[in-house]
Amino acid sequence: MNIILFGPPGAGKGTQAQFIVKKHNYFQLSTGNLLRDEVSLKTPLGREIEKLISNGKFASDETVNTLLRQSITNLKFRDRIIFDGYPRNVEQAKNLELILSEFNQTIGHIIFLNVTRDIVEKRIMGRVTCEKCHMTMNEYFNKQQIELHPCGKEFLKKRKDDNLDIVVARYDTYMTVTKPVLDFYSKNANFSEIDGAAEIEQITNKINDVLRV
Ligand code: AMP
Repeated sequence: MNIILFGPPGAGKGTQAQFIVKKHNYFQLSTGNLLRDEVSLKTPLGREIEKLISNGKFASDETVNTLLRQSITNLKFRDRIIFDGYPRNVEQAKNLELILSEFNQTIGHIIFLNVTRDIVEKRIMGRVTCEKCHMTMNEYFNKQQIELHPCGKEFLKKRKDDNLDIVVARYDTYMTVTKPVLDFYSKNANFSEIDGAAEIEQITNKINDVLRV
């Protein structure tokens, strides 16, 4: 079954997705990572995406849906996908249902990591991401892990869209455009809300409890 990890930017979706990947043998489908990979290829589409992302704006539904389709149709990932950063608006939520039913797949769990804006700001301002393995760490909370990162410290970079003004804009967009997706899902029996302000390990344990059901 597939899983949706839902929540504002900085809620810890990427961090928790990495734990699920390791423990339950899943594939993390982060639309943000797919878009950043396209940016690093410096294609015309990549340059267009870069402008949008670095201003805190969304990539077009068309672009994201094309990237998404490529992963959903990959047999290697069949029914083992964690959606991280998708759907981000109600149209995308509807599109996800369509593509999944077209390929005979379902969503087993929708997990909402609920966090407030002040926590989001602290987490995002300290965030560094490995360009090679996409692992995310925090300069304030994971000093030792950063020193010992196996890919090498030189691959750890701050994202261009992780500055305060853009973070505020991204959070506002989440509240107006993305949060309505919750109404789309919250009445489903497979919807769970978890306090995303808790310690990383506590959140991981709660997610594991949900996935065991
Ligand atoms: P993330 O890594 O999930 O924080 O995403 C980083 C940025 O990529 C977002 O601020 C958007 O600009 C873009 N992005 C990621 N996912 C989507 C999506 N589902 N739809 C549109 N834009 C997206």
